[in-house]
Amino acid sequence: QAKSAGRNQYCFYQSSSGQQSDQELRLEQALRTALQQRQLQVAYQPKVALAEDRLVGFEALVRWHDPQLGQISPVNFIPLAEKLGLISQLGAQVLELVCMDIRQGGLAEVPVSVNISTSQLSESDFFHRTCHILNQHGVSAQRIELELTESCLIPEHAEETLVLLTRLRQVGFKLSIDDFGTGYSSLSYLRRLPIDTLKIDRSFIDELPDNREAGQIASAVIAMAKALNLEVVAEGIENTAQYDYLLSAGCQVGQGYFYCPPLSARDPALKNFIGRHCKGKRLAHNESQF
Ligand code: C2E
Ligand code: MG
Ligand code: MG
Ligand code: MG
Repeated sequence: QAKSAGRNQYCFYQSSSGQQSDQELRLEQALRTALQQRQLQVAYQPKVALAEDRLVGFEALVRWHDPQLGQISPVNFIPLAEKLGLISQLGAQVLELVCMDIRQGGLAEVPVSVNISTSQLSESDFFHRTCHILNQHGVSAQRIELELTESCLIPEHAEETLVLLTRLRQVGFKLSIDDFGTGYSSLSYLRRLPIDTLKIDRSFIDELPDNREAGQIASAVIAMAKALNLEVVAEGIENTAQYDYLLSAGCQVGQGYFYCPPLSARDPALKNFIGRHCKGKRLAHNESQF
């Protein structure tokens, strides 16, 4: 009974508190300004082949620092951008920044993953808009991987989605399913999708190696990816125990603070990481010393 009273109180607080909506309004206005003035930035987190300790890609993650409100997490402003119908504009700006950083040459020669919201994917001009940005910057689609979530794969639009993903893949984009294991995509549908990669959600990695269930889920996803001939990436690896578990379970690729946090393309720490994990680069560097 105390619980339900608490719940009611919470609802009451939410619906009638002017402060809450004031705050939301400020955030909304700040986001519109950030998009108009192109204040968003992108951080890059390396993806590493676990066995060889070799850099195989980056994930691009949007960053927003508002002069008044400070650093705001994408967990908070991505849903807001979706709600306000601004997600396509935001996604376009992120892709442009990624293309510019690729052209600057600071991201080695590996693919860069970009997160795509479900509502972005369902915009009718997504395909053309995306290709147009790449063409404008002279970036090949082979350099870009699109990270979709299972919610992109809603059954009502299964056929349309299949057509769109097939087109994207035909022009060279790689496709991956992010946060895999948290949604409920049917395995028979998954099998038909033209995808390259499954990313095991961080919530399972978090509980490795002690939680048996999380371990079994991770191992099952890895086995299934193998069976479907997909690459498997573990996100959010933070320590050696998690690394060891994933390596022996046959996971190929990982990312997480264990390796490197998301960093600006201009951060010397990222350049340093690339130098230490990009074998081709290190060879070239050694050669230049002779
Ligand atoms: P995600 O795509 O699953 O990204 C992984 C998140 O885990 C990132 O959070 C990353 O910073 C964080 N992370 C990486 N390694 C570790 C680790 O070892 N430990 C822990 N605890 N966390 C780690 P971030 O940057 O806050 O992004 C959150 C979510 O926001 C992303 O989840 C993605 O769904 C969304 N997002 C980020 N950038 C974009 C974007 O440009 N467009 C769209 N549509 N969504 C984005
Ligand atoms: Mg992602
Ligand atoms: Mg993820
Ligand atoms: Mg996740």
